Amino acid sequence: MHSPSLPVSASLEQRTAAIEAALDARGFKPADFIAEQAEMIEQQWLPENGARLVAKAWSDSAFRQRLLSNGRAAVAELGLAMPQHHRHLVALENTPAVHNVICCTLCSCTAFTIIGLPPDWYKELEYRARVVRESRTLLKEMGLELAPETEIRVWDTTADTRYIVLPERPPHTSGWSEPQLAALVSRDGMIGVARL
Ligand code: FE
Repeated sequence: MHSPSLPVSASLEQRTAAIEAALDARGFKPADFIAEQAEMIEQQWLPENGARLVAKAWSDSAFRQRLLSNGRAAVAELGLAMPQHHRHLVALENTPAVHNVICCTLCSCTAFTIIGLPPDWYKELEYRARVVRESRTLLKEMGLELAPETEIRVWDTTADTRYIVLPERPPHTSGWSEPQLAALVSRDGMIGVARL
């Protein structure tokens, strides 16, 4: 197919405009798609979703078991959605003996509809390499110092398997409501680079 050619030196903006024009000419609506995606990112794919999941797991042991055995089904119970290609959601339970942390060594995958879009540092080569090679040192540099006897498990996200870390419930929170508990849960806690 012949398209009007852009000079090799065309700016990113010129290239984007050319692609949008080509899609428009074929009856697609790229501007609508972009607006729709932006709305999802800003309004719907938020770490507050995962925080609700964690708070419910802390409060309801039967739900916690269901979350640990089938994350996708547990997410659906709360009326939350995951894309079809996120075929599995695996919840990784932190304990005093085991600390879980997630990464994507290939790129930047997360369960983004549940824990939010990945932060910039998560996509950087330094995090992706060092969290595997020297996880204890890297976590310490990020402000999370773990006891030497705590085992660290690093989980590498794939296209169809996504993870969420189920942090330990902070000790001073007995009797708290689910919304109160959810307010404690951060995106970094669900990635496994922060304690709550
Ligand atoms: Fe990725």
